[in-house]
Amino acid sequence: MKVDTLIVGFGIAGLSYAEQLRRHKKSYVVVAPDEESASHLAAGIVNPTVLKRFNPVWKAPVFIDYAFSFYSDLEQLVQTNVLHSLPIYRIFNNIQEQNDWTVAASKTSLEKYLNKQLISKDYFSEVNAPFSMGEVIQSARVDIRTLLTHYINKIIPHQFLSEKLDHNEIILGEFIEYKNIKARRIVFCEGFHGLSNPYFNYLPLIGSKGEILTIKCDQLTQKVIFKGPIFLSPMGNKTFWVGSTFNRKDKTTKVSEEGKEWLLSKLKQFLKLPFQILEHKAQIRATVIDRRPLLGRHPEYENVYILNGLGTRGVLMSPILSNWLFRLIENNEKLPPEADIKRFEKQYFRN
Ligand SMILES: Cc1cc2nc3c(=O)[nH]c(=O)nc-3n(C[C@H](O)[C@H](O)[C@H](O)COP(=O)(O)OP(=O)(O)OC[C@H]3O[C@@H](n4cnc5c(N)ncnc54)[C@H](O)[C@@H]3O)c2cc1C
Repeated sequence: MKVDTLIVGFGIAGLSYAEQLRRHKKSYVVVAPDEESASHLAAGIVNPTVLKRFNPVWKAPVFIDYAFSFYSDLEQLVQTNVLHSLPIYRIFNNIQEQNDWTVAASKTSLEKYLNKQLISKDYFSEVNAPFSMGEVIQSARVDIRTLLTHYINKIIPHQFLSEKLDHNEIILGEFIEYKNIKARRIVFCEGFHGLSNPYFNYLPLIGSKGEILTIKCDQLTQKVIFKGPIFLSPMGNKTFWVGSTFNRKDKTTKVSEEGKEWLLSKLKQFLKLPFQILEHKAQIRATVIDRRPLLGRHPEYENVYILNGLGTRGVLMSPILSNWLFRLIENNEKLPPEADIKRFEKQYFRN
């Protein structure tokens, strides 16, 4: 089989790149095992702000505008509702945070995203918020798990190879050969597993494990994402996503009693209603030493590319990053230097 591109991995990065190719009428095949990834476990929260310090995220307007239109077009394509516009209510810990929010919400870079009007503690009796809450306006939850499943089943059922690619079986040349596939180029979208990719293992992927709980809570509103010490996000059918932990030492996807207890203690600080635990799971985020994505062309092989390092913001960033990568490959357009893997080229040639 001869195609334009071989995509390795099918989390949100693989899907985003596949979608760029589909929109530009390029042929492709995806290789990915049928297993859970960080994308399946993510809450899918699209949030243009940093809620610890009340700042916009890096290139917030660029990312958010592209992401909303990308996911809304995808909804049409897969004919399923996956983009849920939901405000985030940040619970303040003290009066100082309340004041900081009001100052931040008046800044030009944030006024589009933060509501100046505070949400009173009396508005929601189900959460404990003695210092009120601040509302993030342009935020949403994308149901990535449903999106991935529908995309495979409806859009690429004959272009999807359900297996883990063995890097040793790739033959590089004018064309990339893998089993019976011959591709003009290969794009690796392997998330944290990218650490064992021999072409890109010089890149500083660190990885950060995240544990989450899914709970059922009959009386809690489904119209708001709450952000206390952790996120509490509605998932439909009275279920909620609770997370998450950050652990840089443990690189396994095993859940821990310690993680569960930590999540429960944080949840009980603000949720006043009874709930039932349905699931406890863990995955590894592909975080990078300088907290920027890993995007670009291999330092030596012209037809080998990477889209990785999405960290904690893959759902927000992946749509436009895939577009930047496509434009690099097709038109040789420059990537923003902060995202380009060229910034680590010295490490490659040193090895
Ligand atoms: C608990 C938790 C909560 C999160 N919440 C959010 C959130 O609310 N919002 C947000 O924006 N981000 C969130 N994130 C981060 C987000 O999940 C990631 O940024 C994003 O999902 C990474 O996507 P990816 O496609 O790069 O990697 P992954 O989702 O890890 O996908 C990698 C894919 O590559 C495949 N693969 C790997 N090696 C091979 C191989 N050799 N051959 C074939 N296939 C291979 C894997 O099987 C998988 O399909 C969260 C992460 C965690 C862990």
